[in-house]
Amino acid sequence: MILVGNIILPWQKRSKAGLVASLLFLVLMGLSGCSSDSEKYSFSGSTMGTSYHITVVSGSGVNVSSLSDQVQRRLDQLDNIFSTYKPQSELSRLNSTEVGQPFSLSPEMLDVLSLSQELYQATSEAFNPAIGPLVDLWGFGPMPAGEQLPDDDQITERLLMVDFSQLVIGENESVAIKQRPLQIDLSAVAKGYAVDQVAELLEAKHFHDYLVEIGGELRLSGLNQQNEPWRIGIERPALERGAAQEIMSLSDTGLATSGDYRNYIDRDGVRYSHTIDPLTGKPVINRLASVTVIHPNAASADALATAFMVMGESKAMQYAESENIAAYFIVKDDKSFSERHSNAFNVLLDNVNEKIKN
Ligand code: AMP
Ligand code: MG
Repeated sequence: MILVGNIILPWQKRSKAGLVASLLFLVLMGLSGCSSDSEKYSFSGSTMGTSYHITVVSGSGVNVSSLSDQVQRRLDQLDNIFSTYKPQSELSRLNSTEVGQPFSLSPEMLDVLSLSQELYQATSEAFNPAIGPLVDLWGFGPMPAGEQLPDDDQITERLLMVDFSQLVIGENESVAIKQRPLQIDLSAVAKGYAVDQVAELLEAKHFHDYLVEIGGELRLSGLNQQNEPWRIGIERPALERGAAQEIMSLSDTGLATSGDYRNYIDRDGVRYSHTIDPLTGKPVINRLASVTVIHPNAASADALATAFMVMGESKAMQYAESENIAAYFIVKDDKSFSERHSNAFNVLLDNVNEKIKN
């Protein structure tokens, strides 16, 4: 059995983050005993400061070493575009470009900026890639957090710089121009986009049955080795691990999770999440421990999962219902955790109508 997602991967050592993450896991399960001529080919590596894992199912032989080289090369290209850590990345160069100066965009950057502009509007600015100055201020960028928490004056000053609508894409879509000083951070969407790009690469090579995972963001396509849709089990947080699961079969979709446990700073016993509320300029404080979004493309799932963390439980649920988005929330109660599904998520669950209780 393979565990993936929010999430603990079998290949990850349990860490302190893993302890909380274990409240939810997505379990990719293979069925045993079915006959199939298809073989499963898996490989993994590192990108964007995290790990990735890919499984391809194919009836004909796959040269895994060649395929994994091609995937790694594609991921390296994407990291060289979207990294906030590499001074020469396309994003870092866009960030250091003067106001009013046209900046040439790669097709990938244009894709991600266009989607980001759309979701910035759609989420009433909860998803806001112009959040960079505050991400840095709170120590979640390339420079680690200082001992002192930022003060209100520093926050107010940086809140003046988070208007993403000040990045204008030229009419022929080949350039972007900053109207005001901006520092863009695409970390909340780039991993999902990279998942979609790897899926595209696999499709171009005529693979249609695969699982792509980068840092917990997923794309599932076609069937697993047993000729079944990929099976994902979500363990209920309130119950003991493995005691009860809702199993769903998923295929041809993306899935992403955001949580307050993976990346945070601790000051005087208070945990500050790496997700920043663009209204307050501070790490989000709400009852959401994690959000999982299922959406056809992983980039949208990724951005929406982050936006939902910002919105908080009730606004996010309202949004998911009005837009018919499949979302799964783990909510912190006083001493334990509970779960909530949007309707679209329930429909996905009902469609497979599988519940396993041990
Ligand atoms: P994710 O893990 O996908 O939720 O992305 C979180 C990362 O996105 C953070 O580490 C920041 O770099 C960045 N970020 C933080 N807050 C926001 C926000 N409100 N909108 C967009 N990106 C954000
Ligand atoms: Mg995200």
